[in-house]
Amino acid sequence: MIGQTPNRLQPRKPRPFDLGVSARWLEARVRPVIRRGPLSSRETALADRIKQLKKEAGSHSPSAPTILKMIPELRMRVDACFLSNPYATELFLDNLYREIIRPGKLRKLLEFYPSQNRVIADKLASGLGLSPDRLFIGNGAIEIIQAILHRFTGDKILVNLPTFSPYHEFVRPDTQVVYNVVRKQDDFQLDIGEYLQTVRREKPDTVVLINPNNPDGGYIPYAKLVAMLEEMREVPNVLVDESFLHFACEGDGFAYRSLTHEIGRFPNLMVVKSMSKDFGVAGIRAGYAVMAPERVKSLLDNGYLWNSSGLAEYFFDLYSRSDFQADYERKRVHYIRHTRRFFKALTTLPGVHVYPSHANFALVELRRDDLTAEDLICRLLVRRGVYARACDDKKGLEPGKFIRVASRTRSENRYILRALKEALRS
Ligand SMILES: *Cc1c(COP(=O)(O)O)cnc(C)c1O
Repeated sequence: MIGQTPNRLQPRKPRPFDLGVSARWLEARVRPVIRRGPLSSRETALADRIKQLKKEAGSHSPSAPTILKMIPELRMRVDACFLSNPYATELFLDNLYREIIRPGKLRKLLEFYPSQNRVIADKLASGLGLSPDRLFIGNGAIEIIQAILHRFTGDKILVNLPTFSPYHEFVRPDTQVVYNVVRKQDDFQLDIGEYLQTVRREKPDTVVLINPNNPDGGYIPYAKLVAMLEEMREVPNVLVDESFLHFACEGDGFAYRSLTHEIGRFPNLMVVKSMSKDFGVAGIRAGYAVMAPERVKSLLDNGYLWNSSGLAEYFFDLYSRSDFQADYERKRVHYIRHTRRFFKALTTLPGVHVYPSHANFALVELRRDDLTAEDLICRLLVRRGVYARACDDKKGLEPGKFIRVASRTRSENRYILRALKEALRS
């Protein structure tokens, strides 16, 4: 997946996952083996192994590298399961190569302890224009989510469905999870009036809002979200997960608005942000949260001293720099532009409904009875090497009907579209 890093140790020959591989190149490689009609016995055997792997993976899909390791005969060409901006990954790798690997600084980064949590927070705070005592650095957002659920959440948490499953899976055994189902009839838009009624009725001590939401891409506009916070001042913990916010633009241009600057007004608010998706660096495990200083202190008194790796620290250094931010901004806008075109093209496919999304993935509903989501996923993977996600395990979605498709590079998206068209025809 390393792609076109200017690293002479890397072969230049395009490989699966290489960025910049043209759709034509992929087509030429794949065309000879494309068959129409039902899967052959060999293909069916592969599909059965994919289904088995998925079953063993529980509520997260096995990653593309895991699938390839377990089923080496599969030829995976596009990973439309992982929800990241591939252009941002390239940007990070370019910087890493130029500033760390080529000058021979990798050893130092890996041999020694990275800075402590507080020190990294100080550096990042200046880049984000935030007060450092409000920043908590995590080993991925997931560590912060666990920390909040285990340390601040009490006996009841309110979670919207469908959702990112750790929010209901990782609660303490004495925490009751109450669900608010967001309906497909509403295009997965949260009914705010109904939500606030549920909050008043159930009196949860923690509420979770993912904005934009995973897996449907539903979005609550900034002004509405702030109005909701006003109505929820009595709720002790309000967790807003902005892991996909960089893809959600509001108003003119491509600007996005983060709640991080509202922390001062809402002491109950905690904003969680993963770096994995918008910067395409899930492997370095980096995330942060913005919350009241007493909360940060309470977490740090409990541990998390050296919870970033040297690579994550280097990433946060980069992220704090204005030159990197300007480069990243260009990658972000470029990616959003063609992602929008991709989603529009998806809506023209027959027999499916594509829900409006403010994120970098689209939730697609199969509106036919002769094909299940899992069969479609297997067909895409076995026949075309396109890995998308069946959502059968997602609470709040009708099983067998939904898949989630991530936007990748432009040429990969073209390839995904063609693969879907072909798979839906049969
Ligand atoms: C992927 C994801 C996370 C986890 O991010 P990491 O930083 O990789 O731990 C958190 N929240 C949501 C909504 C996600 O989709």
